[in-house]
Amino acid sequence: MRKKGETPIAIDKEEFKQIGYRLIDTIAQFYDDIENYPVTKGESPIQLQDILGTSTLPEHATPTEEIVTRASDLLLNHSLFNGHPKFMGYITSSPAPIGVLADMLASAVNQNVGAQILSPMATEIEKQTIKWLAEFIGVSPSYGGILVSGGNMANFTAFLAARTAKGPSNLKENGLLNSNAKLIAYCSKTTHTWVEKAAILFGHGSKSIRWIPTDTNNKMNNEILSQTIRQDLKDGNQPFMVIGTAGDVSTGVVDNLTEIASLCKAHDLWFHIDGAYGAPAAIIPGLKSLFEGIEEADSIALDPHKWLYAPLEAGCTLVKNPKHLTDTYSSHPEYYNFSKDEEGKSMNFYEYGLQNSRGFRALKVWMALQQVGRQGYQKMISEDIALSESLFEHAKNHPDLEAITQNLSIATFRFVPKKGLPNNQKERITYLNTLNEKLLDTLQKGGEVFLSNAIINELYCLRACIVNFRTSQKDIKAIIEIVVHEGNRIHQEPHTI
Ligand SMILES: *Cc1c(COP(=O)(O)O)cnc(C)c1O
Repeated sequence: MRKKGETPIAIDKEEFKQIGYRLIDTIAQFYDDIENYPVTKGESPIQLQDILGTSTLPEHATPTEEIVTRASDLLLNHSLFNGHPKFMGYITSSPAPIGVLADMLASAVNQNVGAQILSPMATEIEKQTIKWLAEFIGVSPSYGGILVSGGNMANFTAFLAARTAKGPSNLKENGLLNSNAKLIAYCSKTTHTWVEKAAILFGHGSKSIRWIPTDTNNKMNNEILSQTIRQDLKDGNQPFMVIGTAGDVSTGVVDNLTEIASLCKAHDLWFHIDGAYGAPAAIIPGLKSLFEGIEEADSIALDPHKWLYAPLEAGCTLVKNPKHLTDTYSSHPEYYNFSKDEEGKSMNFYEYGLQNSRGFRALKVWMALQQVGRQGYQKMISEDIALSESLFEHAKNHPDLEAITQNLSIATFRFVPKKGLPNNQKERITYLNTLNEKLLDTLQKGGEVFLSNAIINELYCLRACIVNFRTSQKDIKAIIEIVVHEGNRIHQEPHTI
């Protein structure tokens, strides 16, 4: 081993402890104090570049402690904190503190979870995590799968497996270009943009997606789905998969999964569920009927970095018959001596997905699942839902707010002041859309509360998605007040809109 002092990247034991303990102190203080920070300072890129300073590639060494202190200062003073109790924009959770420790341990041991021989215990832990995640959402623990970087990757991983399973048998050799098959995928019009990216990435083209309209409950209209599949068959196209959504990204609606499952059975199609946000809510006993049919899915995408509160990044693809993953992704180059062990139990994760070298994402998920347990997650997820329902009720009861939708932990609402609106209905609609958009921009920059938006029936709405174990009733009340106060201020400003 090279001696300390001989290699510039080493840190000796005492220094590592000193700097490390100090960093832990800083993080602990930050977590203790997080509600007193602004959610964001809303600084512009130019301001941030000024603070960061411009510099060319460092030529010489900088003392380690100085670098760690500066990085902490930069991040703790100039970030948007999705761990803040009043952060409820998009779908990014408060990170579980145990996940922070897990990531440090995972980096220290630095396993490459691409092959069992390179990551003996990490591979077993990832396998166990996947089994636990299947149990978590209420499907058979015999589902297999893989942890990936997030929901997009989890859905991509399943999309390609679906194509291998249901496309022409020689597709892997001949590719789409030499095939006459016009492979068609079906999903609700509320499906996340990943599906468009997948169609482009895998060479299907965005026209191969059938965006099915929703019914009055905002669920995929399965009557139209059925008609569209039959029309495609008549036209000589080749349907291969249907994507059901379990918690749509705008409003949290769960499709009728049982109906989709039976349509898929009838036409021999792959049934995929995008549960990136919502699938973990299936752990709540009272929501069992909402998620009925989930156990029929050929594949499911879910995001531990959303409602399981794992720090970024952690997504997961679950597949009923994991052989479809190896059929799609396995290869055996001569430079890999990853032979099977004697009992044939080795599992090389590079054969189950798109990545080759892979980090140990499972550790933070595995540790949190034990720290919290089924009951702890049931409690936290139910509380998020109850807070969202409460926000919706407050909006409904407030004279200047209009409540629009509430599903799972997503509420949407609008600021609609009583006085000073245009009389003409068309002008009023336009005015209110502009007013709410302006209000959201102001709120997002202001740092008191962070919401996002949803467009529902052409109405511009404010959207609060609570996947946040720090949010409390007090925050909900404060948010209502902040929204109304800011809304009135903008509404009363002359000539702003
Ligand atoms: C968040 C989300 C995605 C994308 O997941 P990422 O982790 O952001 O890649 C896909 N589908 C749904 C329903 C989502 O909520």
